[in-house]
Amino acid sequence: MAPAAAPVTEGRVTRLMRADVVVIGGGPAAAGAASSLAASGLTVALVHKFESSPTRLGESLPPGVASHLTAMGVWRAAPHERCGAVRVSWGRDGDLREADLNLHHHGSGLRLDRYAFDADGLNACAAHGVDLIEAIGTVHVDCRGSGAAMQCRTARGSVDVHTSFAIDCTGRVSAVARRHGVRRMHADRLVAVVTTLRHIGLSQAYEDDSSLTVEADRDGWWYSCRIPRGQRVLAYFTDRDLMADELRQSSALMQAMKGTTLVTRECDAQHWEPLGAATSIHAANSSRLSAATGLRWLAAGDAAMAFDPLSSIGILAAVSGGQRAADAVVRAFDGDDSAFEEYQHFNDEVWQHYTRELRGQYGYETRWAQQPFWHRRQRPAVGTSAGRGMALGIEADPIAKPTNDRS
Ligand SMILES: Cc1cc2nc3c(=O)[nH]c(=O)nc-3n(C[C@H](O)[C@H](O)[C@H](O)COP(=O)(O)OP(=O)(O)OC[C@H]3O[C@@H](n4cnc5c(N)ncnc54)[C@H](O)[C@@H]3O)c2cc1C
Repeated sequence: MAPAAAPVTEGRVTRLMRADVVVIGGGPAAAGAASSLAASGLTVALVHKFESSPTRLGESLPPGVASHLTAMGVWRAAPHERCGAVRVSWGRDGDLREADLNLHHHGSGLRLDRYAFDADGLNACAAHGVDLIEAIGTVHVDCRGSGAAMQCRTARGSVDVHTSFAIDCTGRVSAVARRHGVRRMHADRLVAVVTTLRHIGLSQAYEDDSSLTVEADRDGWWYSCRIPRGQRVLAYFTDRDLMADELRQSSALMQAMKGTTLVTRECDAQHWEPLGAATSIHAANSSRLSAATGLRWLAAGDAAMAFDPLSSIGILAAVSGGQRAADAVVRAFDGDDSAFEEYQHFNDEVWQHYTRELRGQYGYETRWAQQPFWHRRQRPAVGTSAGRGMALGIEADPIAKPTNDRS
């Protein structure tokens, strides 16, 4: 990175920089993209946002993923914990099914300390020589025919980066793509109502519980998973328009959970209590950009397409999507005119495969087929050829931004 002249504006330093590529975001997609670009010999600036109370969602990784991440250089084992089993109540009879992940040929899954995981991703980038910039407030990115520019404010003054390409890894907000007029398309209205529980009392059975639980109910589904530091995530997934307003309170979420069979056993009020009085509500729907590339920019990870957490592929797809975007940029630097087009094509294929799989997963639960939540996911797709699953239901921006959603 070649620092340019540093003029002084109103007593604050403005740093002018030149980087081959600017990556915007601080999550798994940004880490995958930036570390991969730097490993290819390009100069990279990664701009992530300062957050006073960051929300990091997604804490379980299926078997086999950790070895991929290790190979990508964005992973270390500690302080994450093993996920030994998945317990599921989902299907015609709702009976408990349990998969012992210790017997899985890829080894057990993982329960992440998500803050440490994302911090490791940024540290891996710094180790690869990426220039990390922590922005305060809005990050402006402007991509034109002649080049791209990024401006932001930091604790030590303003930073202006002149660059050839920008990669949008800002998660569901897809800030760069939207800034360039690209719309986000939504396949459904799924939201996650989330509270973190802390363990009260001492019981070895609870201490040893390394499982993850998923349980369907009439209007959605529940998810519970122990996370490091003796805590547990409890989440209820339903559609935004079906969500009872009182679920904004953790006590109401705990009360609603009593209607479940498995989850209530694991999160019972004698052993677990909410850390905060209010739940947080987050968009969790399947959504994607109408175009994941533009003039001198690409989007990767959730910014390009976000998956229903039932699929549990979000983190891995973000890291590998970031790497794919990096490959496309490296090819573009080498004068390959088809690199962006092929990247878009790859994204289209992933989306089609994903929506087919997801429809199958929801289709397996038949007990509440007439209830809106399930009916919406199981009715025959409208309007286009078979096999494109939920992509068929896409509408542009049908949901208001959920409250407390920082994404
Ligand atoms: C409730 C819920 C549960 C989930 N559970 C799982 C799970 O168990 N397993 C799994 O694999 N996936 C899970 N996911 C999905 C997973 O969290 C995401 O797919 C993954 O985090 C996407 O990574 P990303 O880097 O694309 O985006 P994010 O992780 O959203 O990161 C975006 C980054 O960009 C930064 N940013 C945003 N705007 C700007 C800006 N303007 N300028 C600079 N930086 C900006 C943010 O601060 C953040 O650091 C879950 C999702 C939800 C909603």
